[in-house]
Amino acid sequence: MALLDDLGDDAKVLAGGQSLVPMMNFRLTSPAHLVDIGGIAELRGVRTGGDGLTIGAMTTHRDVERSAVVADTLPVLAEAVRWVAHPPIRARGTLGGSIAHADPAAELPALALLLGATVSAAGPAGPRTIPSSAFFEGFLTTSLGPGEVVTDVRFPHLPEGAGWGFVEVARRHGDFAMVGAGAVVSRRADTVAELRLVVFGVGGTPLRFTEVEEAAAGEPGTDATWRALAARAVAGLDPPSDLHGTAAYRRHVAGVLLEQVMGRAYEDARP
Ligand code: FAD
Repeated sequence: MALLDDLGDDAKVLAGGQSLVPMMNFRLTSPAHLVDIGGIAELRGVRTGGDGLTIGAMTTHRDVERSAVVADTLPVLAEAVRWVAHPPIRARGTLGGSIAHADPAAELPALALLLGATVSAAGPAGPRTIPSSAFFEGFLTTSLGPGEVVTDVRFPHLPEGAGWGFVEVARRHGDFAMVGAGAVVSRRADTVAELRLVVFGVGGTPLRFTEVEEAAAGEPGTDATWRALAARAVAGLDPPSDLHGTAAYRRHVAGVLLEQVMGRAYEDARP
């Protein structure tokens, strides 16, 4: 941290290099110094305890994907990480790198937002924790300050009995998502007790839908409910158009995916 502080704006942290090095190849960024945090063992690993999982920033996507603890206690994270890139990239790319890079089409920032994860950072002013809802500020932009490094991310467990769904559409498996969506649902008998929703790839950051989530409480767990809630969620979306798809296409796909993940999460939940 002190080294980063000394080097100032001209230095960048190098984690797995799977986003930073391609950006340097394209001359989209040209830092004068790279500070490699790959040798810091304390930043690696999955720890359980309290109400969730704490995953070190330098834990690779592959380690998350293969972790028995993650598979047992937070299978939605194991599922989400399988959508990240291809095996060689997952072997080097890191959880902390993905969170700090904050690509709006990336899976792990979206999952962090869906689950209400907390990002721990250390910097010149000492350590602090940042709720994911305050961490992602815009396209490749976070609330990390100069010289701050993500040290770990804490993912709370799902509520008892809650179910989940996570899916995305990409041109090829392993490409960044054109659009993706996730849901967590708790049931009370045949109705929704609590709903959380996220979409990604449709704006500068992943997005939650607080009003729609609140409106879902007490609704019956039926296809008509998912359709109505998804329609309400996408009505306010203003996705970008690019060579992969138009704004209208992305909005349509977001609605379809939201319906799917709500249905899956509801079926997965224990009443
Ligand atoms: P790096 O590339 O080392 O760093 C990325 C940025 O984050 C840099 O600005 C760096 O300074 C900063 N940074 C890194 N770690 C920290 C830290 N601990 N604290 C503060 N700042 C930090 N990602 C997806 O999510 N989904 C995909 O589908 C996907 N597909 C890909 C396909 C290809 C072909 C490639 C090359 C990459 C793809 N990625 C995808 C990106 C991949 O997941 C990266 O691993 C990830 O985005 C960045 O992690 P990294 O460890 O490689 O970080």
